[in-house]
Amino acid sequence: MNTRSLLLVGATALLFAVATNAQVDPKWEIHDRNRPNPAVVDPGTASTQDAPGKPPSDAIVLFNGKDLSQWVEKKDGSPAKWKVGDGYFEVAPNTGDIRTKDSFGDCQLHVEFREPDPPKGQDQDRGNSGVFLMGLYEIQVLDSYNSKTYADGQASALYGQYPPLVNASRAPGQWQTYDIIWHGPRFDASGKLTRPAHVTVFHNGVLTQDNVEPTGPTGHHVRPPYQAGPDKLPLALQDHDHPVRYRNIWIRAL
Ligand code: MG
Repeated sequence: MNTRSLLLVGATALLFAVATNAQVDPKWEIHDRNRPNPAVVDPGTASTQDAPGKPPSDAIVLFNGKDLSQWVEKKDGSPAKWKVGDGYFEVAPNTGDIRTKDSFGDCQLHVEFREPDPPKGQDQDRGNSGVFLMGLYEIQVLDSYNSKTYADGQASALYGQYPPLVNASRAPGQWQTYDIIWHGPRFDASGKLTRPAHVTVFHNGVLTQDNVEPTGPTGHHVRPPYQAGPDKLPLALQDHDHPVRYRNIWIRAL
């Protein structure tokens, strides 16, 4: 494991502790050798520009490089119409958003995407797609490399709410990564919000969202309030009419 991976894992553990208000378990003495050790996970390998890495051994793989069997059309659950290439899939413009068949809540999510090369269009009309956590909260996918748009709509923004801390975009045609830690909202039986969501994002290994608290689901020119719903919902990817590519998508439930 290289230094950056180690830093990433360390920072991730720290943020998880903060997000969940983790406390030292009083049941165990310090350094107690009877305390069960955590499960062993093969961490897999990092991706290169030429090839996707291997997901951690306990991850649910949402794209195996071959087919969209884990995905359906968001609007009606029919088979996903996006194009599958050699080890990647690509937005088929105007076919609509796609979503996972399964539902997910609190999670660690890894997504890789590639912006069209040569780039086309400007501002929001340039390589626009999006990762919708629980189908509702968008981490923006956009070509923000030497391309300007409003801050809370650029790549790695929590769209309409939080600009990324920095612009860590790679050039069009390069594979890029999002590593996302998501803690969804909770509601009581009456539908009252008892815990807002929290999200942390690393863009190409660089921290861009530091445990921010969404104001509610993503909207366009609006910030709608939270609405009571289940703890788990399908993950969605946005069709914004641009041929953005994806590969190596995996998720670990938290
Ligand atoms: Mg978008």
